[in-house]
Amino acid sequence: MAPSPRITCDFCEHRCSLADGQHGICGIRVRKGDAIYTENYGEHVSLAVDPIEKKPLYHMFPGASVLSSALYGCNFRCSFCQNCSISQPELYRHLQTRYIAPDELARNLTDGGYPVAAFTYSEPTVWQDYMLDAARAIRAVGGRTAMITNGFFTEAALERMHPLIDAFNIDLKGDEAFYRSLCGGHVEPILRNIRTLAGDAAALLEVTTMVMEGEHSEDGIMELAGLLDDAGVKVWHLSAFRPAYKMTDHAPTRPEFLDRLYERITAETGIPHVYAYSRRHASYQQTFCANCGGLCIDRRRFALAENRLHDGTCPACGTPMYGVFSG
Ligand code: SF4
Repeated sequence: MAPSPRITCDFCEHRCSLADGQHGICGIRVRKGDAIYTENYGEHVSLAVDPIEKKPLYHMFPGASVLSSALYGCNFRCSFCQNCSISQPELYRHLQTRYIAPDELARNLTDGGYPVAAFTYSEPTVWQDYMLDAARAIRAVGGRTAMITNGFFTEAALERMHPLIDAFNIDLKGDEAFYRSLCGGHVEPILRNIRTLAGDAAALLEVTTMVMEGEHSEDGIMELAGLLDDAGVKVWHLSAFRPAYKMTDHAPTRPEFLDRLYERITAETGIPHVYAYSRRHASYQQTFCANCGGLCIDRRRFALAENRLHDGTCPACGTPMYGVFSG
């Protein structure tokens, strides 16, 4: 029987419709006959151990070491990508890789005593079949899982991921014009996925936005803040752009710009946990109780300094903290 003329990949919202032998926009999903394969399934470009705060995940096992697993590939073409050597085809093609089977990844987790495996650095959406097989193996040995992602996956993909991924950090990069001009994507599917996860009590969601002064205006970031607040997002990280990839001539974001945004967002929205790295204000990295305002988790330069939570609750008033802190 002749192969069907086109098959659509449902991993991400590009929804590439592929003829036999054709690659998708990501460059790593390829149709062969009647199926679409991930060419670099299990082929790692990086396996590392990081503090969980570096993901960033601030509401999951504070101070834990996380096993970070990364294959290459991405469905976006962000001009400012901070990890372009493993995300962009013209740069990753010549990288050495090492195959790590899902069971072997799970063994690495238990051998190291790490509580969480994070799928990270590049875009796990485009290698989600490996991520989900690995997540199953990790769950089988009692581990937890996290996905650090641009959030441009389909609803069908989220249905597959949700039962196997404990924590998501989704990057919200800007508005539709920003995604169109600098990323090769669209904002609405990302907002849809953020709304779904923020409204789901069984999911842990943290959102990150890298602020690029000059491309992002203060009012533009406040519009994103309003959208996240309306979605019920509990945790938002602001980071500062550093020149990279095709934007090495763009000035880095000034610390005062980030400070000003942090101050406006905490004053003008109801998002309970907002974080920004600030040289002048250590408190911008701290976690406070959403009820009484007491200090619950102290951090210094992206690392845990003190965890005052009692079984995941505020030490002063007993209010449960949003997140995963035990088990
Ligand atoms: S993962 Fe996305 S970009 Fe890659 S083939 Fe599938 S739909 Fe296309």
